[in-house]
This record gives sequence, structure tokens and C-alpha cells, in this order.
Amino acid sequence: MRTNLPVNTQRLWDDVMALAEITDPAAPYTRRAFTARFLEGRAFLAKRFAAAGLAVRIDPAGNLIGRRPGRAPGKGVIMIGSHSDTVPGGGRFDGVAGVVAALEVARALDEQGLALDHDLEVVDCLAEEANVYGVSCVGSRGLTGRLTPEMLAYTEPGGETVAQALSRMGGDPVRIAEARRDDIAAFLELHIEQGRVLESAAIDVGVVRSIVGILRIELLVEGRADHAGTTPMPLRSDALVGAAEAILAVRKQAEALAGEDAGYFAATIGVIEVAPNAANVVPATARLVIDARAERRETMQRFASWTEGELPRIVAQARSRLTQISILSDSSLAAADPRLCAIITEAASSLGLSSREMASGAGHDAAMLSRIAPMAMIFTPCREGRSHCAEEWAEPEQISAGAAVMFESVLRIDRAPTEA
Ligand SMILES: [Zn+2]
Repeated sequence: MRTNLPVNTQRLWDDVMALAEITDPAAPYTRRAFTARFLEGRAFLAKRFAAAGLAVRIDPAGNLIGRRPGRAPGKGVIMIGSHSDTVPGGGRFDGVAGVVAALEVARALDEQGLALDHDLEVVDCLAEEANVYGVSCVGSRGLTGRLTPEMLAYTEPGGETVAQALSRMGGDPVRIAEARRDDIAAFLELHIEQGRVLESAAIDVGVVRSIVGILRIELLVEGRADHAGTTPMPLRSDALVGAAEAILAVRKQAEALAGEDAGYFAATIGVIEVAPNAANVVPATARLVIDARAERRETMQRFASWTEGELPRIVAQARSRLTQISILSDSSLAAADPRLCAIITEAASSLGLSSREMASGAGHDAAMLSRIAPMAMIFTPCREGRSHCAEEWAEPEQISAGAAVMFESVLRIDRAPTEA
């Protein structure tokens, strides 16, 4: 274990573990946004923020913010943080590691008597994960002015609107426009990788150069319902067989794109709905959903045109028809700021830590923030890449190495000459 890092590993770890205790007992580790349990976690964090000497507030978008004023007002804010909500049955590190690491950076600066020119804000962004209200990244959308009146009117099954839930979290939907920031000089988020690239290469930190865009495409394959016993094989139009060919073809195409020098690319078909879904009936229809992720727009466009151009032919060869290809959602990719990436890489090497640039295949609050500020992310390894499950795990030293890199990066950002 390294002892010369500029952050306190034990203190950081204790806070991560204390938050892990604040969970629905029936489904560890669960602290879903907008619940009483979430507010309990928030109360713990607010106390810890205050104990670190930060001025604590909740902004109109429901973000918990701890502020440490800088020496040169007007230079802007270095904002660091992540989210403290979890998925159901989620892990102890996704989001939390980033909030606590940011808090630890503020504490370490104080302990070492280091004043910054910039204001420093530690943020716990509200409701990053998908939730029953149907809008994720609520807080970070608010920071960027992208929490629309339509989104505030979304309603969960019990009838509560996002606006009402936001008020319960201490936010203010009426003043939502005031949550939008134009004073952020840099945004940094530490997050566990949620994959196994760093672990398998034994690298201390990942420097995220981009966060993938996500395209969801719905496919409808049509065949003809017939008796499964009396319809001879050559006379069938089996929608599920056509769908199976489509699934295999998508995998092949994704592997080809990922193997080229086209940036990170992945595509998955994780939804199949087959009708009539009966053992003795030839399937009449199959609905599939493709989830495609790319760090380059051109790669995504190539995949989308391949889907439109080639898939209908492939499905037709299996004697069924691809009758509908529709875009369900298309979130744009987010590029990290190259200058910040270079600073993080230098910070890591100054601490004797190894790093590599990589793409993030998952979405993050930082993707939202990139719309209004230079953004970069620091990834830390997690065991076997497991995430969004109770087995999610990172070693104390792995998180503190990431926090140390963030600490060094904040100092370097603060001292860097401001861009014209
Ligand atoms: Zn997360």
C-alpha cells in the first residue's frame, strides 16, 4: 500500500463504507434517487461536507454542493464530483467513489494549507441513474439548463411528478433556470471503470478521452404464424429465425467496426419480444432493440447505414421481412477536453502512477457537464469489471490513487494559464 499519496486513504475508505451502510436492508446496496434512504445518504454527505469546512447548499436542480472559495473571485469554479444514488441492488462504488474522492481532495487541500485561486465545488449530482420517473442525470441536466418543463412534468407510476420529487430533495423547480451554470472553468469526475480494461492491464487510472454516444434502434421482423406441426420447413416464414440472423449479423458488424481504427464501438441486442410466443406456433413477429455505442459520430453513422442497408437483405434471406427500423433514442457522444486529459496524465505520472487514455462505454454526469464546461474523467479499476451489482468492488488503494490524481490535477488546473 502506498503511503506517500497526497490524500488520506483510510478516511476516504471510511466514508465510502459508511455510505454503503445506508442501504435498503433487503437489497444491498440500494439508495435510489428520490427515496427516504437517498435523503439519509445525503444528510450524511452534507455533514461530512460541512465538517470539511465547505459551505453546503442544495441548488435548484437538487444537487448537493460544497463550496470552498478561491483567492481570485471571477476565475471560475473547478467542480469535482459524481452521484450518490444507486441502481436497485447496486454497488458501493458507482458514483459514491467519485463524490467521496472529491470531498477528500477538498480535505487534503485544507490539511496541506493549499489555497486555490479558483473556487472549488464538490458536487453530488441528483439522480444520475435511470429511475421510475423516466429521466436520468436530473441534477447534471439542471446544471446545463437541459432539465426541460416536459421532463419536470414526467410522472412516476404513483403519480408524483419530477418537479414534486425535486422539491422533496430540496430543489426548486420554479427556479430551475438558476441552476444553469456559466462559471465552471473545469469539471472532473472520478468513477470506477465498470469494465475490466484497467484491471487486466494492471493500470492505476484511466484518462477518459470520450464518453460514448448511445443509439437505440428498434427492429420489427415479420413472418407468418402457422401450425408448428403441419407447416413443412421450406414453406415457413419464421420471424424469430429472421431475428436470429439479424442478431448474429449485428454482432459480426460490431466486431468488425470495433476491430478497425474507428474508436470504441459496441452493439448489443438485449431485447427480444416474440409473438405469439407459443411452443406450437411458427413465430409471426419479433421485436428487437439494438443498443449501439460509439465514441465517434462517423462510426455510429456507418453502423446506422449498415443497419438500414444490409439488415433487411439478411433477414429476407431467412424468408422473413424486416418491416420497421426506428430510432428510439440517440444521445450524443461527449468529448473530454484534451488539455484536461493531458493534465490528468501528467498528474498521474508525477505521482508514479500508470495511466492510459480510454473511452467510457457508459454514460456519466460528466457527459452532461461537457455541454457547458471543459470536462474530463478519471477511471479507477474495479474487480472483474463488475458493476451495478452487490459484488461491485474496488480496493481502498485503487480509489485513493484516483483521488490523488484528482488532487494533483486540481492543483495543475488552478495554476495553468487561463485560455484566451
Ligand atoms: Zn455512476
